[in-house]
Amino acid sequence: MFRANNITSSGRRSVRYFSSAHRQQAKVVCALYPDPAVYPPKYARDSVPNVGLDTCPSDPWARPELTPGQLLGSVSGELGLRSWLEARGHTLVVTSDKDGPGCEFERELKDADIAISQPFWPAYITKERMEQSPNLKMCITAGIGSDHVDLEAANDRKIAVTEVTGSNVVSVAEHVVMMILGLVRNYIPSNKIATSGGWDIGECASRAYDLEGMNVGTVAAGRIGLRVMRRLHPFDVKLHYYDHHRLPEAIEKELNVTYHPTVESLVETVDVVTINCPLHPETENLFDEKLIGKMKKGAYIVNTARGKICDKNAIKAALESGQLAGYAGDVWFPQPAPADHPWRNMPHAGMTPHYSGTTLSAQARYVAGVFEILENYFEGKEQRHEYLICQDGKLAGAGKHSYTSGNTTDGSYAAASA
Ligand code: NAD
Repeated sequence: MFRANNITSSGRRSVRYFSSAHRQQAKVVCALYPDPAVYPPKYARDSVPNVGLDTCPSDPWARPELTPGQLLGSVSGELGLRSWLEARGHTLVVTSDKDGPGCEFERELKDADIAISQPFWPAYITKERMEQSPNLKMCITAGIGSDHVDLEAANDRKIAVTEVTGSNVVSVAEHVVMMILGLVRNYIPSNKIATSGGWDIGECASRAYDLEGMNVGTVAAGRIGLRVMRRLHPFDVKLHYYDHHRLPEAIEKELNVTYHPTVESLVETVDVVTINCPLHPETENLFDEKLIGKMKKGAYIVNTARGKICDKNAIKAALESGQLAGYAGDVWFPQPAPADHPWRNMPHAGMTPHYSGTTLSAQARYVAGVFEILENYFEGKEQRHEYLICQDGKLAGAGKHSYTSGNTTDGSYAAASA
């Protein structure tokens, strides 16, 4: 037997007991990004390297259901879950229709036990949606970053929130290094000159610099931030970080990195800022006009954390005025970004859709983590501590370490319905 707490329509908390047989017939609803225009895709390589369990404890190579290197994150990929779930008597609904009142995700969530969503195509699981879904017991993030779930409302309803911590941290750290180099060396505009038949070396060079010798700082030195610094260290930059949690002294010495007790101190010092903190009430809109105004003129920002950490209009204005020399990232709000989102059309930018954490390499790892979380749930076992964001009505595990309580989904329902 296990216990679930639900809030009834009258607002009263009810405690319901489920037998393991009930658990064996769960309904799982999963929001995944649409299949690519060419499906199945023509893969560039036969597989992905087996890198071991350094960053993520769930091993995709130990899962007979998975073939690492295949597209699992789109609708037809179904995270590789269907036959595994159905063989155990569960129901799986997969959809990419996740936004607006009455969309398929919202309809199917109403009697679902478990919701799965990916940050790249987030199904915003707002308080309103939770209120309509009395059976909901767990929201799983296939990836990292659970800000698309109203964590406050989840805690009020004792809905567990889990994610696959570590699964794509190298994928993102590599992307950050690529974007920093791309901006500082003026790669994207120079590529456009070459592909459009031009040869204007002066134009390519007039915004191109070496990264060597620059001050580079990360807002947060968690799993991704630290990996970014390790990867940049050989470029002979001067490294800086700001975080609530100080790194061990040995790591500070090894990387010769300077700690800043405030974000203001960091941004006033560095030439390049990389943002690697979660989105939670403390970090929402952190990079507003005021903070950007404290940065060195001609600084760069790379944000692969979450779009809402930056004020979208302040970023565009700073690029236009020259306060910022460049901005790159793959995260937006809402997602997918509307066609008229200001970041789709701003100077000196290197924006992409949100895909840094869903490389084929990363997918195999976060899908293995989803299998593990589901297996533990069905077998009534404890979840891995680092995979927990919310449990028993409070922040737990990675959530307790990296988030503050509250909600950052505000506006998502309206924005995504527009
Ligand atoms: P992590 O939990 O290992 O590290 C997060 C760090 O942020 C922690 O050290 C924490 O102390 C710090 N932090 C939190 N709030 C802070 C604040 N107000 N000021 C300073 N530091 C603060 O997480 P991670 O694996 O490094 O991931 C970080 C975030 O990156 C995720 O939450 C997610 O939003 C984003 N992410 C994006 C992608 C992508 O595909 N673009 C993929 C993975 C993760």
